[in-house]
This record gives sequence, C-alpha cells and structure tokens, in this order.
Amino acid sequence: MNVRMFTIALLGALSMTFAHGAPEAAKRVALVFDDGPRPADAEPLLTLLAREKVTVTFSLVGLRVAESPATAKAIFVAGHEIANHSQTHAHPRDLDDQALQSEVANAQQKIAATVGAAPKWYWPPFLEVDARVRSTVARASLKIYEPKLLIVSKDYDLSVNADAIFRNATTGVQDGAVILFHEWSKETLAQLPAILAELRRQNCTFHTFSELDAALHPQTPSLGESRSM
Ligand SMILES: [Zn+2]
Repeated sequence: MNVRMFTIALLGALSMTFAHGAPEAAKRVALVFDDGPRPADAEPLLTLLAREKVTVTFSLVGLRVAESPATAKAIFVAGHEIANHSQTHAHPRDLDDQALQSEVANAQQKIAATVGAAPKWYWPPFLEVDARVRSTVARASLKIYEPKLLIVSKDYDLSVNADAIFRNATTGVQDGAVILFHEWSKETLAQLPAILAELRRQNCTFHTFSELDAALHPQTPSLGESRSM
C-alpha cells in the first residue's frame, strides 16, 4: 500500500468511525401526560400509545376524573400508570394547609374509587414542591415523584411550535429522565411518533414512574401489591 492508498484507507476508516460513533448507552425514561382525563384528548393518545407499545404515566386531575370516569378507567386498563395531579389543579403555594390536604386527598379518593387502585405518586400542579407539600403528601401515604432529570417539552406554551416541542422533548435526555407533556396538546399528539422514534434512536426505553423508580432504586423494597399504582 503506497502512502496515497494508505491515506485513503485511513480516511475511510475514520469516517466509518465518526459515522457510526460509539453506541449510545441505554437510557430509561418515563413519559408523563398531565392534566387529563378528557375523552377527546385521551382516546387518540391511548390509540397511539397502544400502537407504539409504550406505557406512560398519566397525571390526572380529580375533578376531570369525576367528569370522565370511563376515560380514567380506560387509561388504567390500558396498563398506564395514573398519578395524582390534585383535585382542581390549584397552585399548591396558594392553598392553606387544610385546602392543600383536601386537594391531595380528594383526588386520591376519586381516582382510587374510579379505577379501583390508589395512585402511588403525587405529581404537583405547576411542579410546585416545598417542605409543606412534601409532608402533606407523605401524610396521605403518597410520594412525590422527583425525577433524576426533568425534560420539559413546553407543549403547554401555545407559542412553542411543533418542531420546538420535538426538539425540547428529545434533547439532553439522560438515563432516569422524565419527559413532560400534556394530554391536551394537539402538537404533542402529532409529534409523538417522531419523538418516540428519535428517543428509540437514542437507545431510550419507556417506563412508568413506578417502573422507573424500581429500575433506578432496585434495593428499595416494593411498596405495593402487584397492580398498585
Ligand atoms: Zn398540570
């Protein structure tokens, strides 16, 4: 092999290396869809998730569960996890102690009575967490899901377009991340097949909150029975 041929071969080998790169490490992630259930939003989302064979977490608002109990039940029956997202979606910081406690307890009771299993996780409206919220939630025998990393799609912001939702949801994703969406976002529904494909390309696997918690903390003893949420 002369120098020229060697150079060509070397460049070829380098470009192969860069083209393929090192395989990305496996990343376990959870998708959460906030603020349902509403039949018109949840039904196409459930259809899409079934087609994609992805289970997620729906964080449901107690009042909306009361309005659409069959939809809450359909989410549960499809194998998704349901988290308690409060009774009325009030800002936790605006509530006095009694009202905060009611927001947590009423949603818990409503979801449990509707789907037949009590949520394990509280997912605070506006992601407002402080010591008072933590202790109120603990007294209701719930845990706040506190992800290792939260990826916010910003699909709640109507000035954020579909391309930006895709970018936000698929950038900087690490093992243990939770990716936040809203059940009602039409842009999210439209982008979801592409988002799932890109996350799969990044070697992501999809888990519920409970599955992700168990995977990240395998030494933690199980808190619930087989079909607890
Ligand atoms: Zn919310």
